[in-house]
Amino acid sequence: MADLFDGIKAIGTGFSTTFRHLFRRPITEEYPEYKRVLPERSRARIILTRNPDGGERCVACYLCSAVCPVSCISMQSAERPDGHRYARWFRINFGRCIYCGLCEEACPTSAIQLTPDFENCRQDILSLVFEKEDLLVDHCGKDPEYNFYRHAGVATPDGGKGEHIGEDAPVNIKSNLP
Ligand code: SF4
Ligand code: SF4
Repeated sequence: MADLFDGIKAIGTGFSTTFRHLFRRPITEEYPEYKRVLPERSRARIILTRNPDGGERCVACYLCSAVCPVSCISMQSAERPDGHRYARWFRINFGRCIYCGLCEEACPTSAIQLTPDFENCRQDILSLVFEKEDLLVDHCGKDPEYNFYRHAGVATPDGGKGEHIGEDAPVNIKSNLP
C-alpha cells in the first residue's frame, strides 16, 4: 500500500511541475537572431592589445605560454634596437584553448586579454590556429591606461631606471651590506 501512495505522490509531483511551467515566462533565446550581451569579464576569444600610444604591449616574456595548462600558446621573442622586446611571431591554438583566463592573469603588460566574443567556431580545426596578425587589435582592451615600460624599471628612450611614472630610484643593494 505504501508503494502505491509513493507512486501516486511521485506522479502528482511530476504533473505539478509540468503544470507550473505551463504558466512561466519562456526563457528560450532565439540565437543567433538574438545575441545576449555578455559581461565584460566573460572569457572567450583572446586578443593581443596595444599601449595607449599604439605600440604593441606584448614583450614576449613567455609567462602566458608557461602558465597555459594546455600549452596552446607559442611565440618567438625579439628585441628592437631601442631595447623594447616584442614577439616576432605569436600563435594561439584555439582548438586546444579551454578559456581558463590564466594567460591574462599572468601577463605583466596587460597585452593578452580574453573578450566576450564567443562566436569563434570553425569547421576546419586548423583554422583555429590564430597568428599574431589575427590576434593583434588596434585598441587597449580592458586596460586603457597601462603602459608596461612606464612602470617596469627598465631603461628605455623615454627614461632610465627609476625615471618613469610611479618608479622609485633603483636601490643600491650594496648599501644594505654591513
Ligand atoms: S585561456 Fe587558458 S587555455 Fe586558453 S590560452 Fe589562456 S591559459 Fe591557455
Ligand atoms: S602576452 Fe603577456 S604574458 Fe604573454 S608573452 Fe606577451 S607580455 Fe608575456
